[in-house]
Parts: sequence; C-alpha cells; structure tokens
Amino acid sequence: MSVSPFPPQVPAQTGAVLFIDLDAIAANWRALEARQSPACRAAAVVKADAYGLGAAPVAAALAAAGCRRFVVATLDEGLALRAGRPEAEILVLSGPLPGTASLFAGAGLWPVLNSLEQVADWRALATRQQRPLPAALHVDTGMRRLGLSAADLARLSADPALLAGIDPRLLMSHLACADEPEHPLNALQRQRFAAARALFPGLPGSLAASSGIFLGPAWHADWTRPGAALYGLNPTPGAANPMAPVARLAARILQVRDVDAGDSVGYGASYRCAAPTRLAIVAAGYADGLFRALGNRGCGHFGEQPVPLVGRVSMDLTIFDVGIASTARPGDSITLMGPGNDADAIARAAGTIGYEILTALGARYHRHYLGGAA
Ligand SMILES: *Cc1c(COP(=O)(O)O)cnc(C)c1O
Repeated sequence: MSVSPFPPQVPAQTGAVLFIDLDAIAANWRALEARQSPACRAAAVVKADAYGLGAAPVAAALAAAGCRRFVVATLDEGLALRAGRPEAEILVLSGPLPGTASLFAGAGLWPVLNSLEQVADWRALATRQQRPLPAALHVDTGMRRLGLSAADLARLSADPALLAGIDPRLLMSHLACADEPEHPLNALQRQRFAAARALFPGLPGSLAASSGIFLGPAWHADWTRPGAALYGLNPTPGAANPMAPVARLAARILQVRDVDAGDSVGYGASYRCAAPTRLAIVAAGYADGLFRALGNRGCGHFGEQPVPLVGRVSMDLTIFDVGIASTARPGDSITLMGPGNDADAIARAAGTIGYEILTALGARYHRHYLGGAA
C-alpha cells in the first residue's frame, strides 16, 4: 500500500511537493479582520514571495476574499505583483532607492517613505510630474530599523513645503516585540505612535503586524499588516495557534534500506543505530530549505507514524528511521511539514522561527495549490 501518493496533477518526476491551501489563507485573512473593528482593515503582506508560498496565487486568493491592499518589501516584488493585480493598492516597504522613484510612480506603487532623503526624492518627482503622488510615511517608534525619526516627522509636519506634491495615505510604524505581549516596548511604541499621529490629524494609521493584532484593539489603528498569521504561523507564541494550517510538505522516498545495530548513518557518521532498523531516504535536503540544523533533531511522518530524522541533512537527501517493520517503499512519501510538525515546530527543532522555515522553502519543490478562486 502506498502512503500519501501525490495527486495526479503532480508530475511523476517530482521529488517533493509543497501543498498550499489557498482557502486556509483566505480564511486566516477573514479571521484576522474579524478580530478588528469593522473600520479597521487588514492589508496582506506578501513580501518574499508570500513567505515562500507564491505571491501571485496567494494575492489572487486574498483579492477574491476581498483584500484590496497588499504589502511587499522591494520594488521588484511590487512590479511583479502589479503585473497581475492592476487594481490593488500596493505598498513597498523599502521605499525608493536613489534613482528609482519614477519606477514606483510608473507602476502606481506606493512607496513607504522611511527617511527625509526618500521624502525629498518623492517630492522632487511629484514636482517634475506636476501631480500628487501617494505614499506612506513610516515613523520609527523604537525598532531602530527603517523609518523617519520623531524629529524628522516633526519637521515634516511643521513645514508642509517638505511634503509638497506628496499625497500621504498612511502613517505607519512597526512593533519590535509584539510577540511578547508583556514587553514594555509595546506600550511605549503605542504612545510614541499616538504622538506621531497627532502631528497629522486625519491621516490613517497602521502599527500592528500579525502579533500586534493580538495585542488588542488599542494597537489596531486603521490598517493592520499581517503576514505570518495569514500563512498559518502562530502569532501568539505563548498560546495555542489560532490560525488555520496552510502548508504541507511531502517528499518521496527514493530508497529504503535495512541497517544493522552499530551502523552509522550519513555524513560525519553522526548517528549510530542502536538496533537493526529500516531507513527511508527522501528527495529533499538543505538545498530545499530543510535546515542542516535539523540533523538528528527533526522528524517527519510516514502516514500517521512519526519518524525521526537521523544523521545529517545532506544537500538533496534526508534520512528517516521508519522502523524495522515499516511498509515504506520507494515512491511513497514522508510528510516533512504538516499537522503535528508545522513550521513553528520545525523551527523549534532547528533553533529558529517559523518565518525562516517558510521563507527558506526551496525553489525545487513543486507548489501544488488547493482551493482558491476558480
Ligand atoms: C514583514 C513585515 C510585516 C508583516 O509581519 P508579520 O509578523 O509577518 O505579520 C508588517 N510590517 C512590516 C514593516 C514588516 O516588515
């Protein structure tokens, strides 16, 4: 009996398949919006190829669910998204690098203006083009990453000429510790953000990403910017995951072999079999984003059965101990990520966060979409 054969649409030569549930992503977006007041909307963050899951199909599913505003990190990502979504409002977090403002305007992208230099570039373009150009203003309230300082923002509000031709649509900031609800920086950033907003009365605000939404309505402002929670990562690390699972990863078994007690396994002979057992070697490795840190620490599932990852992860291959009585055979598949072993659990085993597990998902995986708009 074969275990978890891939659906017929998956090419026979495919070694590993990433299943992405677009309906679950849409449901997660709706669930986040339902936590917010009706006036507060959720923009979907689809940067880094929608955290490795595919920006174009993910944005299409979210647009079908009613999402109108999307957030990406780079101009390249914005241009690619614009090609498929002519109607959407698209914010680009990195703002314009020198010499790129006209590319933003040409594609109707809204830059997030993070510095006085970026404000000046955008203002100069608006003057040249003699039309108002929409943008978001980003004020730093404690992250000390991108963003205008409080003093920069005060200068802009005191001297409207500095914003001449700029059509501000949003004042945003970003929380540094939202996944730690008790962290004092959360309240401090909220206060600083309120002070910043007071300089621009009537301008819509945005402070919370996924975890910030769960801090409560006082952090919601007018727009939230969830990414991780849409993709099923737990935005409340201290508690049960409120989001629907989105991604499942399965890899085919290439070979099954029996080994003796005392045999060592893989590079560096880092695992030694205590008893005779059966190993399944699957077609995915660290080149596919299975972190090498998972060596002798990760696990998979053969059907319902948890199977430990043994030895080091190699570039294209990973070894699981399926047990001496296993019926596993070549062509069957082992689930590498899924129920009971989601991206957050894999991250704990690898010493990282679920975000890094998802965004490292390799280009070799066949991405198979479930649900979504017809
Ligand atoms: C990545 C990012 C987000 C989304 O964060 P999640 O934790 O994935 O919800 C929102 N805003 C900014 C500025 C970001 O860089």
